[in-house]
Amino acid sequence: MTDTVRVELGPRSYDILIGPGLIARAGGILAGALPGRRIVPVTDEAVARFHLEPLLRGLRDAGVTPQGEPVVLPAGERTKSFAQFENLLEELLGRGIDRSTLLLALGGGVVGDLAGFAAATALRGIDFVQVPTTLLSQVDSSVGGKTGINSRHGKNLVGAFHQPRLVLADTAALDTLPPRELLAGYAEVVKYGLIDDPAFFGWLEDNGRHLIDGDAAARTAAIRASCAAKARIVGADERESAERALLNLGHTFGHALEAAAGYDGTLLHGEAVAIGMVLAFRLSARLGLCAAEDEARVARHLRSVGLPHRLADVPEAMRVPEELLAHMGKDKKTRQGSLTFVLARGIGRSFVAKDVDPEAVLRMLRDGDPA
Ligand code: NAD
Repeated sequence: MTDTVRVELGPRSYDILIGPGLIARAGGILAGALPGRRIVPVTDEAVARFHLEPLLRGLRDAGVTPQGEPVVLPAGERTKSFAQFENLLEELLGRGIDRSTLLLALGGGVVGDLAGFAAATALRGIDFVQVPTTLLSQVDSSVGGKTGINSRHGKNLVGAFHQPRLVLADTAALDTLPPRELLAGYAEVVKYGLIDDPAFFGWLEDNGRHLIDGDAAARTAAIRASCAAKARIVGADERESAERALLNLGHTFGHALEAAAGYDGTLLHGEAVAIGMVLAFRLSARLGLCAAEDEARVARHLRSVGLPHRLADVPEAMRVPEELLAHMGKDKKTRQGSLTFVLARGIGRSFVAKDVDPEAVLRMLRDGDPA
């Protein structure tokens, strides 16, 4: 019951294994795929509660030697900080890690991004594997090699491209994930359909509900399709000089909403992206690129699963048009002051639009949601 998706990146290629029970089997899999390594598991407190013991048992049973105790970090976005990065590196160096040490990131995007960045920089780069435990990290952050931490100037502004050696997406780990986190991750699944796969979006309209309700086969199918889409895009453009920017669909608006919320948990990343995707389709429709019905269809699906899908879904103080536009101007994907958006000519027909007129964006935000 394990599926495999390959990320083709020449000498940095790797497999994503997808299926239930992979955390418990990680020891055996690693002993076979990357023999002779000393492993340092890195996780957070919430994930450790459910998933650390089965991992450690599997490592022991497979005769894999952990290099010291697992590193257990506080849960939450604030962990992606310089302070935690320093602590983690000093901890690793204090254990006498060497180039044969393998970091194992067990957790969501926070643990994966931080541990991946530590792996990219410790001893100028050691290997790491991703064992993602949130839907968002299974379909997005664990694949593609973007690692990093936040700065006081913004999210993910410090980091490195560093590909994992292997990704083990244990679909059963999602059973312990809080429902709101699961839904937020689902927004990123929908994104792949909207980028370039209208048939997948249609499939999600029929099956998304089952996936959210826990249907194991639907989960595996959606994660496989999402990882295959991400693997294809990353394989074509590892460092985001062109096509990879499509993965930012909904993110320019989404990041602005997150920034306006002050990253205080009012809005999860995936929730912001859900609203952002609707706004991207709305802007596309207003610019005459796609039909208004496309925006309505995206919003309908997000609403049907319980995701936010309108500006009105966030508190008024977080959607002041001028402030949102100012946040968009600060987004690191903004080049030389012009606004870049992922827009769409229809469902599954997204493209990168440079030099979008800020006035058009402002007018749309001022007009608010359609009746
Ligand atoms: P997260 O890592 O903070 O996890 C969300 C919460 O769920 C945390 O409290 C965590 O402890 C808990 N949790 C995780 N797995 C669990 C499980 N199986 N059972 C119970 N609780 C569990 O958040 P996330 O949504 O996974 O990731 C968000 C981060 O990912 C952001 O920092 C974002 O910038 C980053 N990201 C990175 C990329 C990339 O390409 N590197 C892409 C998208 C997002």
